[in-house]
Amino acid sequence: MGATPSDPQVVTRFAPSPTGFLHIGGARTALFNLLFARHHGGRFLLRIEDTDRARSTQAAVDAILDGMRWLALDWDGEPVMQFERAPRHAAVAHALLASGHAYRCFATADELEAMRAAQRAAKQPLRYDGRWRDRDPAQGGDAPFVVRFRAPRDGSTTITDRVQGDVTVANAELDDMVLLRSDGSPTYMLAVVVDDHDMGVTHVIRGDDHLNNAFRQLALIRALDASGGGWPDPVYAHIPLIHGSDGAKLSKRHGALGVDAYRDELGMLPEAVDNYLLKLGWGHGDDEFIDRAQATEWFDLAGIGRGPARFDLRKLEHVNGHYIRLADDARLVDLLVPRVERLLDRPLGEAGRALLHRGMGELKLRATDLNMLAAASLFYLRARPIPMDAAAQKLLDDPVARPVVAAVRAALDGTPWQAAAIEAAVRGVAEAQGLKLGKVAQPLRAAVTGSGTSPGLFEVLELLGRDEALGRLDDVIASPAAPASGQGSVA
Ligand code: GLU
Repeated sequence: MGATPSDPQVVTRFAPSPTGFLHIGGARTALFNLLFARHHGGRFLLRIEDTDRARSTQAAVDAILDGMRWLALDWDGEPVMQFERAPRHAAVAHALLASGHAYRCFATADELEAMRAAQRAAKQPLRYDGRWRDRDPAQGGDAPFVVRFRAPRDGSTTITDRVQGDVTVANAELDDMVLLRSDGSPTYMLAVVVDDHDMGVTHVIRGDDHLNNAFRQLALIRALDASGGGWPDPVYAHIPLIHGSDGAKLSKRHGALGVDAYRDELGMLPEAVDNYLLKLGWGHGDDEFIDRAQATEWFDLAGIGRGPARFDLRKLEHVNGHYIRLADDARLVDLLVPRVERLLDRPLGEAGRALLHRGMGELKLRATDLNMLAAASLFYLRARPIPMDAAAQKLLDDPVARPVVAAVRAALDGTPWQAAAIEAAVRGVAEAQGLKLGKVAQPLRAAVTGSGTSPGLFEVLELLGRDEALGRLDDVIASPAAPASGQGSVA
């Protein structure tokens, strides 16, 4: 592949509103912005859109930053806090007033409600009718006013969206939006335009729920450019939203959780979530596993699909299993220790940690999330006598099981504690008793792991160490045998 094109002019941004957690759709938007910027050698900025003072919280800001750090959605520079920039937004609105691109509107709330009621009755679209557009503001006197944008009324506006293609709206459909409220505070529409400009944003990549806003924002940008210059059109790319696997818009039921839940509750690795999100709505041939370096090299806007992507937890688990297998054992141990300690309800200690580490190479081959991995590793760490699951109990209820375990116990006494030697000894027992290896290995596995399935039995025995392994066999040999068939069953 060719070298990554270097275009330091490219500036993208992620602009979440801190009214809740960082959800999976937002994380995908951030990832696309990051990859696009990195691909072009440009910058990826973060803006916290906290102008809705009633709904924005510091906890949500923290959750967004935390989620972005976890997913390595590393933004450049300090996050821009939108609310702090309100004076700048107001100044731009006043400049528009001065250049005639905005005007004061003194219509009262009651008046506007009556206007809308009339529009509803006439089955007309509800939009501001421009009643103050051409009036002398002196007529408003000292009454409170809002500042409205004098939007173009004729012609149409076309956005050449890099995902949606050319999308055109008749300007007559866009009414004169409010830029400053009567208390002087800027609206979201004004703030976004001013901030994107001041941050030097060249490419606006975001959910397609913002496509309608883009027409109004672009009209404002063009008015600002006309009144002073230096306000170029950004490139727009509106990404289809994520839907659930049933095709309905993604909701909590589908896994529209905060990314922290993917980490904490679902036990996902961040690189798996990133890889899955990348593939959710963007494609590069049939490639399924694409790491960050590869994604940076390949990412482009042309690869973004136009149809809504479907979120599928099973696929995410599949990707997660892949990255668990690739993950460094020591890192997995660090991630597992708190989970395992919760399950065991006690601290693990150095010996337990070391055991977990030694077993990890085998354990990680079978898990698709960290919870599963933690549960599968418990048998190494349980205190004797270890509990038996139903499959293990059934294996040990076979009347030949205990004598077989006892024979293995005797054979292992003088065996060097190493998997190959242990295997040879177990095979010897099978031969001596005229049994297939499985007939010996299965009750042995049950005794040692408390389960009917496990990583390779002889490796497990070696890892547990002689004392622990033989102790577990002793526990089974000493435990009461199942009642003879017929007696114990309750009708
Ligand atoms: N703050 C908006 C949101 O969270 C995004 C605005 C934008 O990307 O232009 O939906």
